[in-house]
Amino acid sequence: MPNPDQERWSRVKERLRTVVGENVFSSWFARMELESSEGDTIKLSVPTRFLKSWVQSHYAEKLLECWQSEQSTVGRIELTVRSAVIRMLPPKVKPVETLPVRSEFRDIRGFGEQRMPSTPISAVHESLGGSPLDPRLTFDSFVVGRSNTLAHAAAKQVSQAHTGDAVMFNPLYIHAGVGLGKTHLLQSIAWAGNAGAGRKVLYLTAERFMYSFVSALRTQNALVFKDTLRTIDVLVIDDLQFLQGKSTQQEFCHTLNALIDAGRQVVIAADRPPSDLESLDERVRSRLAGGLVVEMGVLGEELRLEILKARVATAKHHHPGFDVPLQVLGFIAKIVTHNGRDLEGALNRLLANSKLNGQPITLEMAEREVRDLIRPQEPRRVKIEEIQRIVARQYNVSRADLLSSRRTANVVRPRQVAMYLAKTLTLRSLPEIGRRFGGRDHTTVLHAVRKIEHLVGNDNALAEEIEVLKRQLQE
Ligand code: ADP
Ligand code: MG
Repeated sequence: MPNPDQERWSRVKERLRTVVGENVFSSWFARMELESSEGDTIKLSVPTRFLKSWVQSHYAEKLLECWQSEQSTVGRIELTVRSAVIRMLPPKVKPVETLPVRSEFRDIRGFGEQRMPSTPISAVHESLGGSPLDPRLTFDSFVVGRSNTLAHAAAKQVSQAHTGDAVMFNPLYIHAGVGLGKTHLLQSIAWAGNAGAGRKVLYLTAERFMYSFVSALRTQNALVFKDTLRTIDVLVIDDLQFLQGKSTQQEFCHTLNALIDAGRQVVIAADRPPSDLESLDERVRSRLAGGLVVEMGVLGEELRLEILKARVATAKHHHPGFDVPLQVLGFIAKIVTHNGRDLEGALNRLLANSKLNGQPITLEMAEREVRDLIRPQEPRRVKIEEIQRIVARQYNVSRADLLSSRRTANVVRPRQVAMYLAKTLTLRSLPEIGRRFGGRDHTTVLHAVRKIEHLVGNDNALAEEIEVLKRQLQE
């Protein structure tokens, strides 16, 4: 029965989804329900106290704003906790939900107007408590090139294994910067794995893992949560760098150990290598580094062009008139560097533009449309090991000397320079840098950084030396 309040609530949810993004929405708002609307007060409920306090402290304003844009008379939102017993990981397959209809221009990958309903695979996956899977992110649409060959091969291998097969590398750990295809690859594993018979592949963002665990604790369902996780054949965790909180990390560590020891596959993606996951315990880091660690590099121009071609081909199924001359694709591939998301953004704009104006796509139009997507070259990611190696070479000492506790002048200065460079060229924290320099205290690092900063101001020769080192490291 259509009810105006419920309908309004649906629209508010769509607004929220747009404002906070799909991931955040499904983590925190998917299970929020409208209880009543009285006067200027809206009553909403969520299943757990944790969820309530989280939403209150992080999203109260957005929630209210979204309501007010649908109904300006609303002045207050009250959140309550539903009393019913809830199960952490619902055993029933949820009815297929229709996903929001997006504007057709937004979506180059093809499912713009009639977004596919969740397929049985994703329904089963969601019933296990997994994060939502995007039907477009499969092996079929993943383009392989030099920078991702190894990661792709390893992911393929994992997805093709059968229950009972010996696990070849565990965990498989993939790291890369933003927009280079980590999520695409991980979701491909989930799709492919769950399509096969009898294997359970669970894809979770670290955020979801955290949320599930914490809310399981609150509802005393932690055992169910742990048991469920341990029945999984392949556990896939995305964006591990976001895993926070001591108890969640401990739980993650237990889960990781339990699964690996039981011969189950674990796949992880993060934006940095295991050794740089500073907030994680040393033992977890070394367990993570103990499998296969693969880095995906930036997308080369050739790969970018192939990705663009594949995208245009898919888009054509849904927008038959859409055509982009090869010359234009070549142009985009050349100037939109590094990031898969920007490539997609560029094509979406061309699509929108040609739809709105009914004009064919030309080089001129492309130049105009994608101008702001051209970014200055992102500085290369510099590694602490590299800094130590180059500094050691420059000053003719060994890397071991830099890490040692020797305090002779010929190693003290190079060590300070290396620490200074580590602080200025990487995003690592002082304690992390200290750890990587033979387990020194962060105050030692701070002292070194200040010392060199001070010297550089007065000593031109040293300033020059440091410039040269920086250039070597950043090229
Ligand atoms: P990450 O998770 O590493 O930040 P994503 O997996 O979300 O990156 O990728 C960003 C966008 O670029 C997505 O639309 C993705 O489909 C696309 N993309 C990245 N690499 C590839 C690839 N090798 N083939 C096809 N599409 C890719
Ligand atoms: Mg991602």
